[in-house]
Amino acid sequence: MAAESANQIASPLAQPVTVVWGVGLERAKLLARLNIFTVEDLLLHKPRRYEDRRKFLSIRDLRVKETATVRGKIVAAGIKRWKKGTRAMFECVFDDGTALLHCRWWQAQPWMEDYFAVGREFVVFGKAESLRPRTIDHPETELVEPEDDEFIHVNRIAPIHPLTEGLTARVMRTLVWRALEKFEAEIGEPFVVPGGSGKAEPPKGGTANLPSRANAVRMIQFPEEFSDVEIARRRLALDEFVVLQRQIRERRKKFEANAQALPAGGDNRLIKPFLAALGFKLTDAQTRVLREIRADMRGEHPMRRLLQGDVGSGKTAVAACAALMALESGFNVALMAPTEILAEQHFRNFEKWFQPLEVKVELQTGSKKTSNAEYRTPNIERDSRATRNTQHATLFIGTHALLTGGFDIPNLGLVVIDEQHKFGVAQREQLVRKGKYPHLLVMTATPIPRTLGLTLYGELDFSAIDELPPGRGKVKTLVRAADKLPKVWAFVREKLAAGRQAYVVYPRVEDTGESGIKAVTKEFANLTKLLAPYRVALLHGRLSSREKEQVMAEFRSGKAHVLLATSLIEVGVDVPNATLMLIENAEMFGLAQLHQLRGRIGRGAHESFCVLISDASDPATRVRLKVLEQTTDGFKIAEEDLKLRGPGELLGREQSGMPNFRFGNLVEDLDLIRQARGIVTDMG
Ligand code: ADP
Ligand code: MG
Repeated sequence: MAAESANQIASPLAQPVTVVWGVGLERAKLLARLNIFTVEDLLLHKPRRYEDRRKFLSIRDLRVKETATVRGKIVAAGIKRWKKGTRAMFECVFDDGTALLHCRWWQAQPWMEDYFAVGREFVVFGKAESLRPRTIDHPETELVEPEDDEFIHVNRIAPIHPLTEGLTARVMRTLVWRALEKFEAEIGEPFVVPGGSGKAEPPKGGTANLPSRANAVRMIQFPEEFSDVEIARRRLALDEFVVLQRQIRERRKKFEANAQALPAGGDNRLIKPFLAALGFKLTDAQTRVLREIRADMRGEHPMRRLLQGDVGSGKTAVAACAALMALESGFNVALMAPTEILAEQHFRNFEKWFQPLEVKVELQTGSKKTSNAEYRTPNIERDSRATRNTQHATLFIGTHALLTGGFDIPNLGLVVIDEQHKFGVAQREQLVRKGKYPHLLVMTATPIPRTLGLTLYGELDFSAIDELPPGRGKVKTLVRAADKLPKVWAFVREKLAAGRQAYVVYPRVEDTGESGIKAVTKEFANLTKLLAPYRVALLHGRLSSREKEQVMAEFRSGKAHVLLATSLIEVGVDVPNATLMLIENAEMFGLAQLHQLRGRIGRGAHESFCVLISDASDPATRVRLKVLEQTTDGFKIAEEDLKLRGPGELLGREQSGMPNFRFGNLVEDLDLIRQARGIVTDMG
């Protein structure tokens, strides 16, 4: 991020780091390992911690198991051998006038004897193992040298930077200091507050008391008070967010300048009978979102909208209405799902819904290619309504192969991407750059915390369905240890006897030899025996499309009572009679993913149960799983997941293009991200 940051290429800060005194080719190579190439990289090399070297703790006052920084001279040092001389450790004794401190390294290195010479003075940081004698094992040490620049290292709060072999904390600190001395005056303000004097000044609003960028760099490297660090971090984070928001805004502007919208608002001719036959009334939230979508599809610029709605909130019906608007206007529509199973489920739904309206629906997946020849409309002038053949406007349903597989849909007015988080940013971008500009609606059930939404999806408009349809059975969630499984299975049998169905989810397809981690193919026979006479069906990603389809058909029809599956079923699958979800090795899944899996049940009127089996003893994992017991609010769960596992995990590994911040923090900095958006908007 920093290399392309707000300072222009011509900036002195963009010079190679070798312009800093003391950085030759060798050191430049070491710095490169830390991704430090330019002066700016060095200035922004963020300390990993700080040491208060203004006053040192007396060795006498060391306390056991507490980290401390002390300063002392070496009074004795040497290698100790034992086990007949096969093992060697290095020990040296420091004296600060109040007491002696023994430091031990269990692997003696050849350089130690010279380096830790009697009479030399060191700063020592570590945790005391014992007090009789006072001992620290493997401390971090730094030589105090009687040189001119010693004030850089002691009698201050000293930064300790991330290091690499061959670069000591002391050398790194010296280089940062020199870079700052030489280039501080060149650190400009990357943005100017609108209405300001044109001179560099800190931004207004909640950030009014943030320091200038130059001050912030000094404060984060050589703080005078510990409180300086967070103040400086926030300022530097704001700069990062401004850079990113500016990129997002420019992308959007460029897009709007190039892209003219297709008139696809429709005339209600199909939507009216559709809604009348639907069998339920749209919720207020669904209706509101549809108004937003219609405004877009009638608007000047092509729709680029992200629709968020928790699992079961009814996104499909909204997508259907959006599709009908485009179809009414004479355009073809593409609906893409992340898996074939989901594409086929959509196909069945939409066929049922649209056939009475005489709208053609086609399924197009990797394994299934219904011929589309008869529906192909000639590539007519896009916006000449007169020539558009509204009779043949078709809804195409498929996986992403629909748009990437060389299958060209003419006269395309709307693309709907279901479960967007499974596609990844790169693929979405590919679509957006397609050259033609159909309206785009992306739907996701992963509630995206605002910080992520504004950074990752910043160029999309937001809609949210924040209300579930009425009449849903409750879902109860329980976390249990594996020794409770017999009881759990008894409970499952009870529910199966009452006519309900169940999902059982394990993390692996095949046994990978990891102890205690269950694989569906391995457990299938056991489970079939355990649950007889109830029928168990098996579903995982290695089955062929036809096999998958057969399995789903069996489960949907109730012929199979239990579906043993991998997390493949996490998205979209809708079988209202299934009211049990049993997940073993639950600790292997992310919270958002478990929430998705849980979303498969609670779709009918019956009470549903989600049982998470985990033997993880680690308290953090227990806490994580407990979150699901306590809430069904997808947003809360996503926030929690973001805090606990970070953005990459939350959105799935497929996500590329995740911004990489040095100072910005996607968990905590919502206010700064909002500020940055404001600043960028004001810049025009
Ligand atoms: P998701 O948002 O997870 O994709 P779906 O679109 O699959 O949810 O909807 C879940 C279930 O709720 C479906 O069976 C659907 O028919 C039903 N549904 C959708 N909207 C309503 C509504 N307004 N009232 C009642 N049921 C609804
Ligand atoms: Mg869905």
